[in-house]
Amino acid sequence: MNVYDSELVAGILEKENYQRAETIETADMVFLNTCSVREHAEDKVNARLDALNALKRKHKGAIIGVLGCMAQNLKDSLLETKPYVDIILGPDSYRRLPELINQRAQKMNHLVDTKLSKMELYEGLFPANREGINAWISITRGCDKFCTFCIVPFTRGRERSRTIENIMTEAELVVNEGFKEITLLGQNVNSFHSEGNNFSDLLRAVSKIDGLQRVRYTSPHPQDFDDELIDLHAENPKICNHIHFPLQAGSDRVLTRMNRTYTKAHYIDLALKMRERIRGVSITTDMIVGFPGETDADFDETLAVMEAVKFDAAFTFKYSARPGTKAAEYADSVPEEIKQKRLEKMIEVQRTHTLYRNKLHIGEVMSVLVEKDSKKSKHQYQGRTTSNKIVVFNKGLEKIGDKVLVEIEEASGITLFGKIVN
Ligand code: SF4
Repeated sequence: MNVYDSELVAGILEKENYQRAETIETADMVFLNTCSVREHAEDKVNARLDALNALKRKHKGAIIGVLGCMAQNLKDSLLETKPYVDIILGPDSYRRLPELINQRAQKMNHLVDTKLSKMELYEGLFPANREGINAWISITRGCDKFCTFCIVPFTRGRERSRTIENIMTEAELVVNEGFKEITLLGQNVNSFHSEGNNFSDLLRAVSKIDGLQRVRYTSPHPQDFDDELIDLHAENPKICNHIHFPLQAGSDRVLTRMNRTYTKAHYIDLALKMRERIRGVSITTDMIVGFPGETDADFDETLAVMEAVKFDAAFTFKYSARPGTKAAEYADSVPEEIKQKRLEKMIEVQRTHTLYRNKLHIGEVMSVLVEKDSKKSKHQYQGRTTSNKIVVFNKGLEKIGDKVLVEIEEASGITLFGKIVN
């Protein structure tokens, strides 16, 4: 979402004839687009801002701006502790950036706009300089779910959806530019609703675009996942058979305290339906360990859900309190060393499941969309299957953006290795 927003801001500035600098040292303006979802992300931004202050001392008149969720969430502390920051803009205020740059250049005071909007969808504005074979397209902004650990509803505001018509205009534009794959984005992507259309209607519409090979999306919420969407995955070959399906915790007691609005049984039922109905589906997830009040028994329940679903991959995090959220007020925090132990256990379990899932593909011929040179060798390409597995293989005559058939010979960690067979 932040990559998309950064390119949206670049698009707004390019429309005003600003140009990208070759390096940060030669830039007249530097904007950091920030994330507040975890403490670690904020720490990184603070360190980057200190480095930019050093640059600003050498480059007189340079403008430094903080955009996005941290701007929204921490404007007062930024103004107090980082007086060299010129502009602070929340996620609904990017349209005002050119105007604020002009005001700041005329030596006006620090400029701050963090008003949240119930309407702003950046309709009619498109990101600049997308790269690669996949184009991200934001379809909703904000979130109404209010999970108790999450700052997003406070930093990105209420949920609103773009119109299908406007999304289609952007999708057709990127396909005409040569993108093969589109990923639809939203904090809670499958609660999309617009003019009587639901998320499945949108997927059906986008998948009909000529020249588009694959449609992905992230992230859905289990509460809004229904049979219609599962069936659509099963029936429509353009809709990728990968579902990122955030679990967060596997105990009903913790799920309730997180305000996740689904039960363990509902989640498992949906995941098993996906495995049963969608051929070759891969299911990945997000997990938090050490949520306040999580006991050993709760954690064991989470491991049991992992065992039942055997995720293809998981993003695992230690809980970190976000000031301003409900969970930050819970008194029963889990000691750091217990969080660490649970995280290590979870990673170990997930490793075995990832390897188990990936080894099932050995001997299979899989369709791979070629993305780029592999990280380890320029004689090899890497690409992805529709189930979002990374596949590395020796180069032949194909080029980036082609679809090739690869016979899988080996699975290690998160990567599959194979040879081209067509
Ligand atoms: S669904 Fe929950 S975790 Fe996801 S953005 Fe909304 S509040 Fe945050």
